Amino acid sequence: MTKHKTPSSIRCVGCGMEFASSEAFDMHAAGRRRAPLGSPQRCRTETEMRAMGMSQTSGKRWSIARMRP
Ligand SMILES: [Zn+2]
Repeated sequence: MTKHKTPSSIRCVGCGMEFASSEAFDMHAAGRRRAPLGSPQRCRTETEMRAMGMSQTSGKRWSIARMRP
């Protein structure tokens, strides 16, 4: 029996994608959200998120890539 670990990641109730931080989730959510960490009015697509500089980790969590100076 294995425990399912859920380290501080955020899952979007709209599309089911996971995010490493609330900042990353905010970038993913287009339009207003009904409540904090609730379902966004519209979820950005992977293409849009990549265009904004976000990247997906091996754990399939989206995170904000650090900008290079
Ligand atoms: Zn979503």
